[in-house]
Formats: sequence, structure tokens, C-alpha cells
Amino acid sequence: MKGLVTKSTGSWYTVSAGGTSYECRIKGKFRTKDIKTTNPIAVGDWVEIEPEPEQETAVIIQLYDRKNYMIRKSVNLSKQAQIIAANLDQAYLVVTLASPPTSLGFIDRFLVTAEAYDIPAGILFNKLDLFSEEGLEILADYRSIYEHLGYPCFEISALKGINIDAIEASLTHKVTLISGHSGVGKSTLINRLIPEASLRTGKISDWSDKGKHTTTFAEMLPLIQGGYIIDTPGIQEFGVIDIEQQELSHFFPEMRALMNQCRFNNCRHINEPGCAVLGALEEGEIETSRYESYLSIYHGNDSRA
Ligand code: GDP
Ligand code: ZN
Repeated sequence: MKGLVTKSTGSWYTVSAGGTSYECRIKGKFRTKDIKTTNPIAVGDWVEIEPEPEQETAVIIQLYDRKNYMIRKSVNLSKQAQIIAANLDQAYLVVTLASPPTSLGFIDRFLVTAEAYDIPAGILFNKLDLFSEEGLEILADYRSIYEHLGYPCFEISALKGINIDAIEASLTHKVTLISGHSGVGKSTLINRLIPEASLRTGKISDWSDKGKHTTTFAEMLPLIQGGYIIDTPGIQEFGVIDIEQQELSHFFPEMRALMNQCRFNNCRHINEPGCAVLGALEEGEIETSRYESYLSIYHGNDSRA
């Protein structure tokens, strides 16, 4: 029987199949192509299960091919990755300009990761109700940087319920990963989109306050209008571990567009003569902040900022 993995704790997986939820274990080895991962199966995966007679438990016997997946670097094991979720239609980053500030570098890392894994990405600027006039100007600048690059942007207040309809419409019948720094209002937004989720997130934060609950596994939450949200607790860092330096500029749409115009076909866009990217930067056609993010990722700088 084919089912969808909606929750995972590392050793147990909740699989929804034929209108029933099964608690499942894994039988056999499952490997992800090309990268080493700490978890073989993730939320959003489609699997084949064998239900156990007269119980709501089952065994996962097969993993179906993934359309895509998002990973994070494993904290403990270098060069290993944890799959956050698979088979995503889109990924949204919740961002705030203040309390807490989200850096442009962090936004760019998220977008590069999404590009690298073929996931359409968008940005939700939250806490709109807190913006001063000056803040609104900065917001307009940020928004224009990213909309110009083709990333949909939404200005919302999760707390006050401003512009939530627009997001709701964009989520319908899709599987959407929602991420963001802690404190940006991700839980508030999810609780607004899925009221039944409020109890659950309340529980999680109670636990983490006591330092006991350290789970970082994502959970898939069904939307009433069809589609799912994937909540990603505790993710501060996105993985770009399997991107080669030479490939990095492919994941910046504004650089990708200039790729064939550099004098050298192996141009790194750092100091080469006849570099079209550096030319565009000089002309102001490429944003300085975006180019700085490129350099920072290129040189492998710490990604938490
Ligand atoms: P999370 O860590 O991203 O899940 O953030 P929470 O949803 O727990 O929100 C963190 C804090 O920001 C809480 O005190 C929320 O009430 C507040 N918050 C969330 N959204 C908004 C918003 O749109 N406006 C304002 N003013 N506060 C918000
Ligand atoms: Zn170049």
C-alpha cells in the first residue's frame, strides 16, 4: 500500500495511507543518491508499506523516487546531511526586519539552497504591524530586490491577520515548507493557517523551554482547503554542502543569466578580467548584498548569520 510520510521521530514514522494513519518502522536499508544522510526517510516521502494485521502499525518496505528534497547540515557529523522534507512544491522563509532581524545573508542562503534543490521559494515578511515609516522603506527595498529576481514576496502580520488570504491562496493544493529563525512568528502564522495546530506547537515550546525536547524533525500539517504545510522546528541553517564552488553562481538567478557572457568559461566571478557579473555589479544591475552573499558562501563562511 502506498502512503505519505507525515511525521517522523527518527525511529518511528507516521504514514497516511488509504485514509488511515499508520505508525511505521523501517525494514531494510534506504539510501539517498549522491549524499550521505543521517535519516533515510523524511516527511513528504512516498513509501510502500505493509500493514501489520489487526493493528495500526506497518512496516515501510520501499521508498519511492523523490521529486526534490531540502536538507540541513548535520550538527554532529561533518559531510552528512539530514533531509528536512521531500517532494516539496515550494518553500517559504518567514523573515522579520527587527525583533529579531533576519540578515540578507540568511535569506540568500535559504534561496540558494532552494535553487540547488529545485524548489520554488518565496519570502514572507512578517510583523508588518510593527513597521515605522523608515522600516517600511527598508521593506520596500528588500522586497524589490527579491521580486526582481522572481521570488514571490508577501508582507504580512501573522498576529494581526494582515494579508493572510494571499498566502492562503498560494498554499492551496500545494506542499509548502515553512522555515525561519526562531521568533519570527512562524508558529503564530501556522496557527492562523491551521487552528488545530495551536495545541501541538504550544506543547513543543513548553518542552523546549525546559531543554528536554530537542527534536528537529519536521511535521506535515494538512490544510482544510487542500495541501500541506511542513513545519520545520529549530532550523537555523540550510545545507549547501553538495554544491561545488564552480556551480554556485548557477543558483543566483541574476548571475545565471549572465553565465555565457564572461570572457572565461570557468569564470569564478571574483577578479577575472572580462567578467560579466563584476560588470553588472559595477553598473548596479546586481545588488551588492547578493554579491556579498555569493562571496560568503563561495568562501564557505559560517552560515548561521
Ligand atoms: P516562532 O519562533 O517563529 O515560531 O515565533 P512565534 O510565532 O512564537 O512568535 C514570536 C513572537 O512574535 C511572539 O511573541 C508572537 O506573538 C510575536 N509575533 C508573531 N507574529 C507577529 C506579528 O505579525 N506582529 C507582531 N507584532 N508580533 C508577532
Ligand atoms: Zn564572471
